[in-house]
Parts: sequence; structure tokens; C-alpha cells
Amino acid sequence: MRVLLVGSGGREHALAACLSRSPELEALYIAPGNPGMEPLGTLVPLAADNVTGLVAFALEQRIDLVVPGPEAPLVAGLADLCASAGIACAGPSQAASALEGSKSFTKDVADAAGIPTARWERFEEAEPALAFVRRRGAPIVIKADGLAAGKGVIVAQTLQEAEAAIIDILTDRSFGEAGASIVIEECLVGQEVSLFAFCSDGEAVLIGAARDHKRIGEGDTGPNTGGMGAIAPPPHFDREAQEKALDIMVRPMLAEMVRRGTPFRGIIFAGLMLTQDGPKLIEYNVRFGDPEAQALLIRLDSDLLPVLRALAKGRLDDAAIRFANDASISVVVAARGYPGTPVKGGTIRGIDRAEAVPGVSVFQAGTALKDGNLVAAGGRVLTVCARGETPEIARARAYEGVSALEWADGIYRRDIGI
Ligand code: ATP
Repeated sequence: MRVLLVGSGGREHALAACLSRSPELEALYIAPGNPGMEPLGTLVPLAADNVTGLVAFALEQRIDLVVPGPEAPLVAGLADLCASAGIACAGPSQAASALEGSKSFTKDVADAAGIPTARWERFEEAEPALAFVRRRGAPIVIKADGLAAGKGVIVAQTLQEAEAAIIDILTDRSFGEAGASIVIEECLVGQEVSLFAFCSDGEAVLIGAARDHKRIGEGDTGPNTGGMGAIAPPPHFDREAQEKALDIMVRPMLAEMVRRGTPFRGIIFAGLMLTQDGPKLIEYNVRFGDPEAQALLIRLDSDLLPVLRALAKGRLDDAAIRFANDASISVVVAARGYPGTPVKGGTIRGIDRAEAVPGVSVFQAGTALKDGNLVAAGGRVLTVCARGETPEIARARAYEGVSALEWADGIYRRDIGI
């Protein structure tokens, strides 16, 4: 099979590593990819959101399957363009991608499908929204309806904070069109976990679950990031609990999407809060998480390629999918300054020494080659992942891998998985 993988982060590097092992793979193209992926396929200088360019390339190279990593090409309609060109795509249509692109759409689908989620209301005007929060009181959660790069959700601890968030989003339009409407939600309390599954029309097959660490600082302090690390499985959320959650949180949504005529084919990421009354849905994303994908994919014991082809063609139940039952951890090494302005250009050495630690794999993201040296070129630069029979073993191995790196500007959290 001839495959085009789209994206350039650690998640896509881990996907490329799995795809490159497939006996069914004839050729792997990666757009735009990163230097770490160069030994695994042919890098193509096309941006991940250049959907018309990607489809033209896929036609020219007789690609059999397109595998999108990030959400941007999906929201821009990559799967729909592939469908019109007769190319299989392992990601959802633009209509089904609204599960990530619109919070009120997700809440609507969850209500119609009977999926437990926080009670909510949608508002377009500030006055009724302000009246609503004054009636309900704090804590309360205010969300810009559209995509706001992780900054559109305010968990307001006081009424003043809630009022300020409403004015900021609806009156001052600080998120532009993404804030043309807001969702106001009941505040849930509990541990958060992320559940992942391969989905195709009505079928879902469990990938696994992970807990990520979003803040830059140890002890979950400081600003939010794209994710500084993940542990899989999360403590107290075993395979049985994950299968049960899949039945409650994902399968009814898939049935509802089929009923609406916009079936979902791709990887679903369900963000859940484990509350005292059981799990509740916080959000869906329509793709793998990064760095959760790296932690989950290093435990894949079967061939990824036939699974992705099967889900793209609506025949997921045919697929044989096996994940090992051990634990894994991913630790992101970012460039000093991240998530503000990262220090670029520093030379990175020691990836081979890190990968010599048993169970360790290193995936690249913001890297570049300069005069034959690997240098930092972005915020999140490397993900060091490790497997182990227990979470403690996986952690110890991952941090031994991190210590083997030589990169003066690298920063990371020491408490991933704790
Ligand atoms: P954006 O659209 O800005 O990219 P996002 O998709 O990251 O945001 P969510 O995942 O819905 O937004 O919310 C971000 C975080 O806010 C969650 O991970 C959770 O910690 C918190 N949160 C969201 N909804 C609730 C809720 N109802 N109760 C408590 N906390 C919540």
C-alpha cells in the first residue's frame, strides 16, 4: 500500500514508526514530516493544512491511504476532498470534525445520544449569559464555542471571573468568531482521563486510555501547553473500565452521527472527568492526542496499516488489533522559553544513547537539520517514551532516556505519571 501521512509532530513520528513496520507498506510519504521521520519515509514539503496540495500530491503518487495526524487538515476538509478523489482517508469528514470544532455541537450530540455530560446552556448575547451565571453562581465553566487553541475554556471559581469571561468572549470578542457563542457548563469535579478508539461508522475498537499533563510546571503549575507528558493507562482506569467507558461515551455518539448522516471514521479522543457519579464527557477531539499517541502506540503489538485502511473503508470489525498490557510513559522535552518564545538553534545529541535504554523510543517534533547537526526548531522538540511491566519501571526508563540526551536548552517535567 502507498501511504501519505500528514503532520510533523511527535504523534506523527510515532505513527510513521508503526506504519513503516507494516509488511503491507509499499511506500510512505510524510507531509511535511521532520528530520526524525526521514529514515522512515519520503518527506514532502507540503504544509499539513494545504489540503488541496495534499490531495493533488496523493493523486499524482497513486496514494492508497491518507493518514491525517493533526486536526487542522480535517477541519479544512481533507477527508472530503480525498473522498471526491476516490482516495481512502483514515480521518473524519469536515461535518464529523465538528465534534472537535464546536462545543455546542458536541453537547447537542451528547444529549441526543444520552451520553453523561455536564449540564449546559448556549448563549450568543452577554446579558442573558450574565443573568444565567448570577442565578447559578460559581464555580462555573465558560467556553468559547469554537476552536481557541486550548485557551477558550475558563473554569471560573468566582462569579466575577465568570462575568469577566463572558464579557471577554462575547462582548470584546477576544477569540474572534470562535467566540461568537459560548457554552456555560456546570463545573465537574474529579480526575481527568483521555480515552482513545479506532472508529468507523457504528463500530469502535479500544486503543487505550492515558492521562496527560498540560501545564508547563511540576505539580501542574504555570501556563498551559500542548502537553508535557502522559501516562498510559491512567491509575485506577484499567482496561475493563475503559471498555465500559467506550460503551457509554463513544458508541452512542457514533450511532447518533450515523443517524444524522455524518458518520465518524477516524480516531476519537474522548476527554472524560471521573466524577463521584461516574464518568462524564468533557470533550471529543477527532484525532490522536500528542503526547498520548506516542505513549499508546509504543504498546501496539499488531499491524497498524490494515486497521487504518479498514476504518477508512467502513469495515473496522474485520481488523485484528492488539495492544500489550504493560504500562508506558511519554515525557516531552521542550525548548527553554516554551510555551512562550522557545530558544531555537541549540544542538541536540544523545538520541541514540537514550534509545539504547531498554523499552525507550524517542520521537521528534520541533527539530531541524543544520550543517549536519540536529537542532531545536520549535517549542516541543522531543518526546522520550518508555514501556515497562509497571508504571514505575516505565517512568524510570523514560527519565534514564531523558538524562542520556545532550541539549543545553531542553526543559521537561520530572513528575510525569505521578
Ligand atoms: P479550546 O477549544 O480552547 O482548544 P479545549 O478543547 O482544550 O479548549 P476542553 O477540553 O473542553 O477545551 O476544556 C479544557 C479543560 O477545562 C479540560 O481539560 C478541563 O480541565 C476543564 N474543563 C472543561 N469543562 C469542564 C467542566 N465542565 N468542569 C470542570 N472542568 C472543566
